[in-house]
Amino acid sequence: MRKKVIAGNWKMNKVLAEAEQFVQEVVKTDPTDQDVEAIVCAPFPFLVPLVEQTKNTSVKIAAQNMHFAENGAFTGEVSPVMLKDLGVTHVVIGHSERREHFAETDETVNKKTHAAFDHELTPIVCVGETLDQREANETMNHIEKQIRAGLKDLTEEQITKTIVAYEPIWAIGTGKTASSSDANEVCQHIRTVIEKLSSKETANQVVIQYGGSVKPANVDELLAQSDIDGALVGGASLEAESFIQLVEAGK
Ligand code: 13P
Repeated sequence: MRKKVIAGNWKMNKVLAEAEQFVQEVVKTDPTDQDVEAIVCAPFPFLVPLVEQTKNTSVKIAAQNMHFAENGAFTGEVSPVMLKDLGVTHVVIGHSERREHFAETDETVNKKTHAAFDHELTPIVCVGETLDQREANETMNHIEKQIRAGLKDLTEEQITKTIVAYEPIWAIGTGKTASSSDANEVCQHIRTVIEKLSSKETANQVVIQYGGSVKPANVDELLAQSDIDGALVGGASLEAESFIQLVEAGK
């Protein structure tokens, strides 16, 4: 059985004291068990203290982005080598906000995904359609294109380890959640596309998260779906109490 993975994506929020307070509460409660994993996707300046705080605990720390190069003249960027060196375990790649505001493309997503594996980081690869695409019935084609391009040339072993996050753009930060059956339908489609790229066995192992206005009130129904293995949560991951509830829902 696939593990549930709940990741809180803080985006550009919190100051250091708030970040540490949050993690302290989560670590103290330890809402994880053998069935559910908890990941905090924190802004770069908080990574060092949070990795330190979560040493010897079950809480994992992720970056929200990275460059694909190992080093070089890329002012303002952070490399996979740096993240690995700090003890970061996961990295979010191709979030729709990065695609929209920072010109990320399926091509950069693919380069970053390869770079993550080259440095033993687990990528959380984000895909999702706009409202226009959904209304024009283009969701499935668009998602297939993003998955094929994003996971291009990965080995089967790497695909097995990839976490995919399906985040319909119209559901992010809007309070509008995709219905659990619509979300599951797209997650199933993602698994089918992955099967075509690899094998049934591999596709069955891939963790596929849903993201977009997930909160304690709707998480149970989403996680009860056959192909939703977790959540990538923005707003409702900012308070420790609600993040803990979300992780506990994965048990
Ligand atoms: P919200 O949970 O605030 O809708 O954000 C979802 C998201 O973008 C997580 O990466």
